[in-house]
Amino acid sequence: MDIYEKYGLKPVINADGKMTILGVSQVSDQVAAAQKQGAQNFFEMAELTVQTGRYLADLIGSEDALIVNSASAGIAQVLAGIIGRGNAYHVTHPYTTQITQREVIMPLGHDVDYGAPVDVMLAVAGAQPVLAGYANRCTAEQLAMQITPQTVAILYIKSHHTVQKSMLTIADALQVAHDHHLPLVLDAAAEGDLRRYLQLGVDVVIYSGAKAISGPASGLVLGRQTYVEWARQQNYGIGRAMKIGKENILGLVAAVEQYLTTGPESGASMKARLAPFIAELQTLPNVQVEMVQDGAGRDIFRASVRIAEAAKICQALRQGRPAIYPREYRVNEGLIEFDIRALTSAEMTQIVERLRTIIEEESTCN
Ligand SMILES: *Cc1c(COP(=O)(O)O)cnc(C)c1O
Repeated sequence: MDIYEKYGLKPVINADGKMTILGVSQVSDQVAAAQKQGAQNFFEMAELTVQTGRYLADLIGSEDALIVNSASAGIAQVLAGIIGRGNAYHVTHPYTTQITQREVIMPLGHDVDYGAPVDVMLAVAGAQPVLAGYANRCTAEQLAMQITPQTVAILYIKSHHTVQKSMLTIADALQVAHDHHLPLVLDAAAEGDLRRYLQLGVDVVIYSGAKAISGPASGLVLGRQTYVEWARQQNYGIGRAMKIGKENILGLVAAVEQYLTTGPESGASMKARLAPFIAELQTLPNVQVEMVQDGAGRDIFRASVRIAEAAKICQALRQGRPAIYPREYRVNEGLIEFDIRALTSAEMTQIVERLRTIIEEESTCN
């Protein structure tokens, strides 16, 4: 029986991006096959965790690696590990008052809600957030100013969710961290380059397995051996509440292998696929359509449609069947964006036709 019918769910056309609210991404047959192998066999799980980490570390060029159940779990386990420094008592008593060095500094403009607040992951880790700079600006000096004897790490969030203007770069933050003998932890959840930040010298980099990598629900922690080991120990403490299954561990390994061989869709390919979609969108009445690059500078291109009543139109798109989810971050500016990474050309045509119907209904109502 059709899964949508069975549960009374609406099919979804995802023009939003790698969004958790829609199930993030689709896995390839190769990844699904690895998940099946994982699901239908037993393993010595501690060994599976260590050996898949070692395998991925070699493949990517990291000292070590750890597969966790999400980037969020990665943030929590890594920071808890840095607070506990491998202390066995801390693993099972993560919030012990015996440990008082718990401050993690991040730029105020990075204190975002990516679907859940970064703050919550710090709280789970037992970290005390210390914010640096201002909502619109953070310099290396402002970051350094917040360092105290209680500081254990600096956290940098590389994301379109964060404030982009007047922000120190990753290299700047790294310099501050290393000048003060602190590790720099980078949340690169939705980033696509698995090597770049390690090569820069970042101590720990955290990715979301289902975003750019298009793996199953999972997270990937890369970086220095000590920090990865400390994070791994957390599997016997806070990490148990965020346990990943063997099927998704093996699924993520297959997804990384495939990702490193074929890579994500290039910006050039997206532009080529966007051209006919944009031409179709331009046939709609009273719209201005253009191609825009990702706000965080990733090699991702989208169609941006300026239209009256943008929020209302998005709502109508979502409420139809199938539900069409555009990208709505700029709706308050009257812009609807369409991310085509998960779209077929037939779905693009469906989107244009639905928009035409909605616009016509709007104009007859008025
Ligand atoms: C998506 C995202 C996360 C969380 O990733 P999960 O794997 O869903 O936990 C964390 N940080 C940023 C910046 C994100 O975009």
